[in-house]
Amino acid sequence: MELHPAEPIACYVEVLLPLALARPYTYGVPESLAHLVQVGVRVEVQFGKKKHYTGLVTAVAGQGPAGYDAKPIIGVSDEHPIVYPAQLKFWEWLSQYYGCSLGEVMNAALPAHFRLVSDTLLALGPAYTEDLADLDDKEYLVAEALSIQPTLSVKQVQDILQQRSVWPVLKRLLARGILAVEEDLKEKYRPRTVACLRLCPPFAERPTELKEAFERLRKSERQTEALLAFIQLSMQFPHVRREDLYKTIKTDSTVLNALFRKGILEPYELEVSRLGDYGEGEETLSALSEAQEKALGEIMECFGSKEVVLLHGVTGSGKTRLYVELIRQAIQRGEQVLYLLPEIALSAQVVGRLRRIFGNQVAVYHSRLSNNERVEVWQKTLQGQPLLLGARSALFLPFQNLKWVIVDEEHDPSYKQHEPNPRYQGRDTAIFLGHLAGAKILLGTATPSVETYYNVKTKKYGVVTLSERFGGAQMPEMRVVDLKQAIREQRMYSHFSGELLDALRETLARGEQAILFQNRRGFSPVYRCDECTWYASCAHCDVGLTYHKSSQQLRCHYCNYRAPLVPTCPSCGSSKLSLQGFGTEKIEDELKIYLPEAGIVRMDYDTVKGRHAHAQIIQDFEEGRVQVLVGTQMVTKGLDFERVGLVGILSADQLLQFPDFRSAERAFQLMIQVGGRAGRKLRPGRVLIQTYNSAHPVLREVLAHDFTGFFKRELQERQHFHYPPYHRLIRIELRHVKPEKVNQAAMALADRLAPSLGERLCGPSMPGVGRVRGQFILEFLIKIERSAIGVARTKAFLRESIEQVQGIEGLSGLRVTLDVDPS
Ligand code: ADP
Ligand code: ZN
Ligand code: ZN
Repeated sequence: MELHPAEPIACYVEVLLPLALARPYTYGVPESLAHLVQVGVRVEVQFGKKKHYTGLVTAVAGQGPAGYDAKPIIGVSDEHPIVYPAQLKFWEWLSQYYGCSLGEVMNAALPAHFRLVSDTLLALGPAYTEDLADLDDKEYLVAEALSIQPTLSVKQVQDILQQRSVWPVLKRLLARGILAVEEDLKEKYRPRTVACLRLCPPFAERPTELKEAFERLRKSERQTEALLAFIQLSMQFPHVRREDLYKTIKTDSTVLNALFRKGILEPYELEVSRLGDYGEGEETLSALSEAQEKALGEIMECFGSKEVVLLHGVTGSGKTRLYVELIRQAIQRGEQVLYLLPEIALSAQVVGRLRRIFGNQVAVYHSRLSNNERVEVWQKTLQGQPLLLGARSALFLPFQNLKWVIVDEEHDPSYKQHEPNPRYQGRDTAIFLGHLAGAKILLGTATPSVETYYNVKTKKYGVVTLSERFGGAQMPEMRVVDLKQAIREQRMYSHFSGELLDALRETLARGEQAILFQNRRGFSPVYRCDECTWYASCAHCDVGLTYHKSSQQLRCHYCNYRAPLVPTCPSCGSSKLSLQGFGTEKIEDELKIYLPEAGIVRMDYDTVKGRHAHAQIIQDFEEGRVQVLVGTQMVTKGLDFERVGLVGILSADQLLQFPDFRSAERAFQLMIQVGGRAGRKLRPGRVLIQTYNSAHPVLREVLAHDFTGFFKRELQERQHFHYPPYHRLIRIELRHVKPEKVNQAAMALADRLAPSLGERLCGPSMPGVGRVRGQFILEFLIKIERSAIGVARTKAFLRESIEQVQGIEGLSGLRVTLDVDPS
């Protein structure tokens, strides 16, 4: 047999693959591709026997690895780097700090389009037409194959084209929209619309001529009435919904059609997300108040000596107005700004506000965007987009001239990524990113996290305070309602105290609105037998099921397992079964009985699933269509309503008794934040906090808006029990479908860790929920002194020990996660 020699290798590259591998792999570069490779471009490679991946070049070298022949790369995907050395450095920090692989960081960082793998599915995109005349031969073959079958994997495309390097062809087709990645199609974005009405052109421009319109309607009373109602509504709302007109005057489509025919009104469809839109163009900015002006000066001064500054401003003090001013000035100087929010989906109000002010200078980035939208923002960032607004994933954008990082609501726990790796804290990561870029970092909140405030107290961060609400608005008046006493006085109505119900009625009677906060969704969290110890629990998790009335089902909030309500106890046969405890659904339900006249809307995970559902609820509340908003912690987030006179917290105890070292901090933050929604403009609002434990110190501090007192007391506890900010925490979680295996693994790990870690090692122990999705869980908590340089060494030691345990025979199904700074 005679074969041709392989193409000579010109140089070698380190390739980062989108996998949880410990390090990049070395590949050879054939001579014909050598001029194309550079750090930051993607290359196609084979890994393992059959799989093809797009990987990222992290280094180029003349020398190959000693001892084995590196496989050659198959092709080069980019002409220009898509990732810069500064970004790579940032990724490396993340992988080291959070103890995960660089490949996992890359997966989090790059939009899916940038990391096609051999089983990525492709389908026809929106721009596909049957006319394929302008495609070249290869493009044609791919498109044609897809007109016959719905999807193709990258691997199949390779077979069709009979070549391994298919990326250039796919890239062209994707860019033109003829192809799409399957993922995109699933989440295909269809904006929801509502039917609205507006005046036809001559009247829209010159409302004075409305007289002429009324003239045309003179003969029809009903049509005149409809036009009058329309005009009235248009003074209240930027967009008049057809449905509202029907409601106000009980008219019907025949009347409207007449108005259309006569050229007075016309229908149009409006995207729900734009309902609150008061027009395009730039909103003129109001002047800063004296206090804001002063704070801005202080912030700038602080940045003279500090990299990080905390803006500690009470709710309603106008922190957002200050950010806007900073951004405006930065953009004028040609600087790039990153504005981070904990959850974009829940921040419609802020996003809308910034859009109205900065127009096209803003681009919004978060994980709910489709892949195409993400790539678009990525490209814009490269081209110097001035303002990037996003959730934590925006930290990975390829900034060009990043000079400002604003972290809004810095205390918010949703800055932490829980699944999958990297399990990073968005705020902390933002600080590191800002540091790398030489940017200034502004953290803002009304309720600083204990960590941040500790950094202020130790002078690591600067601080600027806004202690008064904008425009002289007063802080809400906070009161505790003692539920024990209410029961004694027989003034409890289901979960509402008489005092709360009275306050609700008064508030609504004054034409104001109310927010009720209950940090639990569903109807009832417990379904149990009154005669024995049985309660409904999940088949896959060690946790009780929550009853959801709307679907008449019991559901697991961990794995979404569903089960019907059983009529008799499966354990003892008794038919005395009862629902106990309450969630938002029950509050909403019962409130309808006590306040039959009020419009009530619920905002929690179950009601905001659609892409615009959340915006719609806020819109309805803002426009006064509903009077009471019932919700979970979603209602505590960044909402600014003008007419909220009352906030009710149904159960402070649930917040305070949560078994976590942060529960006091969270409870304090939640109560102050939700209370902060009350009475922001008109009059001081009221906050009522229901509790069985009215003497709790955190409640006292909440009532007095005493952050400093809370902070001091909390610090002592943290120091005493070796928690942050004094100690760093690392959590190791082991999971296996067999309990004996997870036990064995935990014992083996403990054996390795205990000798060197000593008292710093806590565990193994069972977490609050010891089994989730059929996997048994054990955890370790490691507490390391903050000062220790040993943190990095400890992480390396932990990873090494974990690898050893994973290598033990028989433990192959073991899953281990390392969580640095868990929360
Ligand atoms: P925070 O972010 O501190 O809770 P906001 O920025 O939402 O406060 O401001 C509270 C309210 O005060 C908002 O309705 C905002 O429009 C208004 N406001 C704040 N600063 C100004 C200003 N300088 N001029 C006019 N209105 C302002
Ligand atoms: Zn029973
Ligand atoms: Zn479950």
